[in-house]
Amino acid sequence: MHPRSTRISVNYFALSAVLAVNGQKDTELATALYIPTHDLRIHDNPCLTRVAQFDTACIALIYDPRWFKPTRYQTKSIGPKRWSFTIQAMEGFHTACEGLGNKPVLRTGEFVAAVNRLVQESGAQTLIMSRPVGWYECEQLISIQAANPALQIEMFDTYTLFSEGAHTWLAEKLPRQYTPFRRSAEQADTAAPMAAVESLPPSALQSEDEWSFAAQDVFSLDFIGTEQAGLEHLKQYLHCGAASHYKETRNALSGWSNSSKLSLWLASGSLSVRYVWQSIAEYERTHGANESTQWLYVELLWREYFQWLARKLGTQLYRFQGIAKRQPLTSFYAHRFRAWCSGTTGEPLVDAIMHELAQTGYISNRSRQIAASYCVNELQLDWRYGAAWFEQELVDYDVASNWGNWQYIAGVGVDPRGGRRFDIRKQVAQFDPEGDYVRHWLGSELTKSVALDVVDAADWPLAR
Ligand SMILES: Cc1cc2nc3c(=O)[nH]c(=O)nc-3n(C[C@H](O)[C@H](O)[C@H](O)COP(=O)(O)OP(=O)(O)OC[C@H]3O[C@@H](n4cnc5c(N)ncnc54)[C@H](O)[C@@H]3O)c2cc1C
Repeated sequence: MHPRSTRISVNYFALSAVLAVNGQKDTELATALYIPTHDLRIHDNPCLTRVAQFDTACIALIYDPRWFKPTRYQTKSIGPKRWSFTIQAMEGFHTACEGLGNKPVLRTGEFVAAVNRLVQESGAQTLIMSRPVGWYECEQLISIQAANPALQIEMFDTYTLFSEGAHTWLAEKLPRQYTPFRRSAEQADTAAPMAAVESLPPSALQSEDEWSFAAQDVFSLDFIGTEQAGLEHLKQYLHCGAASHYKETRNALSGWSNSSKLSLWLASGSLSVRYVWQSIAEYERTHGANESTQWLYVELLWREYFQWLARKLGTQLYRFQGIAKRQPLTSFYAHRFRAWCSGTTGEPLVDAIMHELAQTGYISNRSRQIAASYCVNELQLDWRYGAAWFEQELVDYDVASNWGNWQYIAGVGVDPRGGRRFDIRKQVAQFDPEGDYVRHWLGSELTKSVALDVVDAADWPLAR
């Protein structure tokens, strides 16, 4: 549980407990306000299952202009690529809810103020949301509860395999390293996906939309953000048999089916991780389990570990000294950072990776490791600037996985070896020996090495 949430007594509900008490529709329930965040889907959505029990409901999709303002790292919380993908996910969700009998309203404004306004206008007694992972999102919920003391806040675990309170090793006894966590998780049953709702209660609020999908700038992406596209992708990935070779191919720098690409839809919540887990298990029953199919669980458990770690760490997830409380020997150098972001460091493999990221919004796990290691170890940059750049650029940005992995590479995270330095020459020899990857993303744009000692004070970013 969020350490500060008890201070203002946010009410945490486990869906199973609510259903066990109520059995069926609660006669006292009147109006619910549901704000989807990382749960833009109809399948396996415990929030929607709960909404369906109310007499009326207001479902609202909020657009907060502050997402597009520069952060303290001079980057944005969300860049054009992820925004385009998210818009598709939101629009698909909007259409699906309307088909089930409840048309969501589109609201804009600073998130907390927008929710407070919706509570008043809809007359909702209950706010339903996915349990947040990031510190900032937790703070927002606390502010909403403080402004609306009578409001019942119910949170559901839509983003993780396990549910809050299910095991002590998810919370107070969360191991400081991944392996013991994985061993415990492998012994436990993950929560089964829920059936999709068949209808929704009528809307509690008839009002003009304050923003529109059509007015948003669209970045042309190679993948579509809707729930339907995510489900179809999972089906195709399993159907083509790539899961049975995953362990041999997962480290490749590129190649659509060399890894699952599920992160794209998992991050926006248009795919349920519980549904993915169950689908892999079904695949194993029909096609047989092997080291590769088993390795997919190992990686999904990395994702799971980072989610619970982020909840436990709070703001420590974003601190320079990280969880290890070790001061890295790095700093901020504006020209090096600019060169890294724009793929003009002069190191062809790193530059190619950063070009791929800029053009597509996705890079492989190996590419992320190489780019992050170069940023921290060779350019000696403060790892948080790299993490913030990935936050802006990645379509599959996930607060816990991103900042947790960056801490790991920077040597201030949960890595028992205290950081990872990837030798670029070895990486090239192993993963791009013929130079195909570099040629594809850099073409003739090979750049000169960046001079590490050119610093202009005027280039330093201003603190917020
Ligand atoms: C510096 C850095 C930053 C990263 N930032 C993100 C991020 O913002 N969002 C994100 O989803 N992943 C992040 N990752 C983890 C990983 O690179 C991606 O999850 C993976 O590349 C996504 O591609 P895929 O779905 O094909 O993965 P696959 O190899 O097919 O793995 C299956 C699933 O397991 C999970 N997974 C795999 N590797 C990891 C890992 N190291 N940590 C956590 N989960 C993992 C993902 O949910 C992924 O979809 C980061 C890794 C590094 C090194």
